[in-house]
Amino acid sequence: MNDALAAVWHALAEGRLHFRTRAALEAHQVRLAREQVRWVAAHSPAVAARFRSAGLGLGQWRSLPPTSKAEMMADFDRLNTAGLHLADVLALARSAEDQRDFSGQLRGASQSAFAGQPITVGLSSGTSGTQGAFLVGVQERQRWAGVVLRHLLPPPFFSRLLRPVRVAFLLRAEGGLYRSVQSRRISFTFLDLLRPVPELAAALTAADPTLLVGPPSVLRALLDAGAQANPERVVSVAEVLEPDDRAALEAGFGPVVQVYQATEGLLALPCTHGNLHLNEAHVHFDLEPLGDGRWRPIITDLRRRVQPMIRHRLDDILQLDDTPCACGSAARRVARIEGRQDDALLFAGASGQPVTVWPDFLRAALNRVPELREYRAEQSAPGTLWLLLAPDLPSTRAAATTEVRAALARTGADTERIHLLFGPLLPAPPGTKRRRVSRRSVLPSPPVPEVTP
Ligand SMILES: [Zn+2]
Repeated sequence: MNDALAAVWHALAEGRLHFRTRAALEAHQVRLAREQVRWVAAHSPAVAARFRSAGLGLGQWRSLPPTSKAEMMADFDRLNTAGLHLADVLALARSAEDQRDFSGQLRGASQSAFAGQPITVGLSSGTSGTQGAFLVGVQERQRWAGVVLRHLLPPPFFSRLLRPVRVAFLLRAEGGLYRSVQSRRISFTFLDLLRPVPELAAALTAADPTLLVGPPSVLRALLDAGAQANPERVVSVAEVLEPDDRAALEAGFGPVVQVYQATEGLLALPCTHGNLHLNEAHVHFDLEPLGDGRWRPIITDLRRRVQPMIRHRLDDILQLDDTPCACGSAARRVARIEGRQDDALLFAGASGQPVTVWPDFLRAALNRVPELREYRAEQSAPGTLWLLLAPDLPSTRAAATTEVRAALARTGADTERIHLLFGPLLPAPPGTKRRRVSRRSVLPSPPVPEVTP
């Protein structure tokens, strides 16, 4: 079966994975997990070793101590089941990014479970300090394409497939992933973010996409540069979607939905009502409480086998929405994906104890500053917070000082010991992930979130 047909087959199969009760969804996950964990432990030496060292049987996988992205990368060669070496993966992925040619693939090693099969490789942009590499096999790629198509094309799916679909991707690196469903009816235009903004804006207008996919900061920049498009859906990826960007993109281009995808997998997708649901038909989520309604996901991918993810802790922070969705899905709803963990700031509290300041608080404070178009807040030292403002004026500085000090005081930080420094915000180079609130690694260890009882 060719890629496009296989993707459509997976898209159709996805229609049967719409669970209306938690019980049905969880029973489906248990079924998949049993087979997945057994297969992965038999083929991935790294996963088998984790079960051994924890003294756990395969049926106890939910008690397995979580692993991290840094550990995944450190043990990459023993984790993947295609017998690939990280050095080869990085060499291919980096040369692809340099040459802007993303058609290269590796072949599974001869003695591996994927012997001779083409494996798509890619890199994540590594804003959180650890660059991630990903491996995707042929079937995984086809399933990915099918699931994405099913969730992104406006309903009804069958009749929508009869008309041409033109997808425009604005991405830092293409990744062979996206081309897998190329066909007569479905075409892809990859707009390379290394091109100058005016040129990209013109190319986007010329592409006339029915689906427009990209990071919100890039989409916003192209909109501001005069790009014209009237897609059925705008798909925000790779960055936190801020409410002001959503509003501008909806007014300028059309309805906006989000896809939450990372090196670690396809984690959440929009439903027919445009709301973001965890991709629980394919990924199992354990959620660690961080307090204040925030959760850190530990994922177990129930499908991926070339690069298995079993009890893998993500850096992202989720806020969930408990209200049922009109689409009827039992998959949990995501209200917000917060920045990476190292975007939480850490200041001393009044009695010297560390206080975590969530990025949300600073964003909310700075959103209240009149005339402020854009900003960056960066903690550069334990008691120093830089505020880079556009425009950087006496009035925006004064209002930002008031708002940020009030927000810091509300979190319990000792504002007497925090110096605010100001400067103008310079435009970020295209292709870099935008982080509005960040912390340079000035502290000995990552912040420990306070858990409210
Ligand atoms: Zn829904």
